[in-house]
Amino acid sequence: MYWLVAMPLRVAIVGAGIGGVTLANYLAKEVKSNGSEKLEVTIFERRSIPGGPSGGALVVQGEGLAILSELGVADILSDVLPGGDTVSVPDVPAGRLPRIEASAAVMTTPGVHRAGHKMPARIYVLRETLLERLMEGVQEHVAVLPNLEVSDVREKDDGVELDYRPCINADNEDMMNVAKDPDEVTTATFDLVISADGCLPCSNAAKKIPGDGGTPSEREQVLVCQALCPRDPSSTAPMVEQEIYLEQSQGLVARLDLGMAVGPGPESGSLCPWDMVNLTVQLEDPVRGVPKPMLLSAVFNRYMMLVKDTHIVRMANAVVSRADCSHSGGILHAWVPSKREGIGKKWVSDGGRLAGLGDAVHPMPPAGGWAANCTMGDARCLAAHISTLCAKSASDEKLETEDVRSSLCNYEAARKAVVAPFVAISVEETKRIIGDK
Ligand SMILES: Cc1cc2nc3c(=O)[nH]c(=O)nc-3n(C[C@H](O)[C@H](O)[C@H](O)COP(=O)(O)OP(=O)(O)OC[C@H]3O[C@@H](n4cnc5c(N)ncnc54)[C@H](O)[C@@H]3O)c2cc1C
Repeated sequence: MYWLVAMPLRVAIVGAGIGGVTLANYLAKEVKSNGSEKLEVTIFERRSIPGGPSGGALVVQGEGLAILSELGVADILSDVLPGGDTVSVPDVPAGRLPRIEASAAVMTTPGVHRAGHKMPARIYVLRETLLERLMEGVQEHVAVLPNLEVSDVREKDDGVELDYRPCINADNEDMMNVAKDPDEVTTATFDLVISADGCLPCSNAAKKIPGDGGTPSEREQVLVCQALCPRDPSSTAPMVEQEIYLEQSQGLVARLDLGMAVGPGPESGSLCPWDMVNLTVQLEDPVRGVPKPMLLSAVFNRYMMLVKDTHIVRMANAVVSRADCSHSGGILHAWVPSKREGIGKKWVSDGGRLAGLGDAVHPMPPAGGWAANCTMGDARCLAAHISTLCAKSASDEKLETEDVRSSLCNYEAARKAVVAPFVAISVEETKRIIGDK
């Protein structure tokens, strides 16, 4: 059955994490240039502020960095880092993954960099900082609805019905699954619903895409710990970017990364460099999850004993103890990532009005540092397809549901080809650290 899609094209984005906010940023530009009579965008987020899983720093590289450059965010971030136009490439042990080469390949995409400006191959940035920058200007053109959880979506021939309800406890992980009042549900109808709701058990939109969207994700046997604190402006300690693989008698057991991240500065809205130590370790019992915050520095200490270079140990210890001190403004944070095998089989529903992006359709292990970058790439590609649909409807041609479905299927095919190798790299790198379990 073919239906004409009326204008404006009403798009709902479920989830204001990295993927949802990147998509909203691109679509806000579309609304700004073509008007809300062509496109109407609403973003639902169960938390009180956009941001996805809280805490920690992300590495932005490859496609993600190219996108931030295109959106005018990368320059702002790289300017904060001392010597921000260079990157020190660590020694690459034999057989190590070609992370820099992979990002360099994507970075050669022409036209996305400011002429004459040399960008680092990757930038670490605190998640909240990245999201704040991506959200700038979005609210003027997109309806951003926090504290609302999407509880169900139903695809019909002429639209998608979306149920949502208030969710005031989502910032508190412990209260995530408290019973909600079913009477509080409101229903709205959209032409397109984008599932950018990640892979938590509460992610409801992706479950309606037949295929892997409904498969529950499992916890990886990996613990990622991060120590972050604003760099002391009077510090004369050199910046070091280093990846160290830690070995015990049974082989590799962990990886320690030292570096600099961009985070909030002392003045409201300002940015400054943060010292950062990341530790990725095997986790025997992922069900027990993250150790209590008071034990995190002990986890760092345990693995730091395996580092042979005493200078590195001193520097890393200094960052961990400052991050652990309540007055430093630092963060000591850990998380257990989720996984599903491979990339989701279907990213678009049979009716063609519901599509997924990011962790909702391809959660991947963290060791490669590619998940958020692939997610941003999905958002950019999807935004380009939605823009083309809007352009078609603005011309004399009629926009039909089949146009929408085939456009989203083209998005799925294009992105699967890009994302699959990164999932493989991330799985491979995780196996290298934690063994083939
Ligand atoms: C601490 C940490 C460090 C990481 N480091 C890296 C890194 O260095 N490099 C990298 O590439 N990746 C990293 N990742 C992974 C990366 O964060 C994810 O791949 C990325 O966030 C996926 O983006 P997303 O938009 O798909 O999902 P998310 O960022 O998970 O966002 C989903 C959003 O949807 C909301 N939501 C969920 N269900 C509902 C619902 N029913 N209704 C309304 N809203 C809903 C959630 O509250 C959340 O805000 C890290 C992850 C964590 C937690």
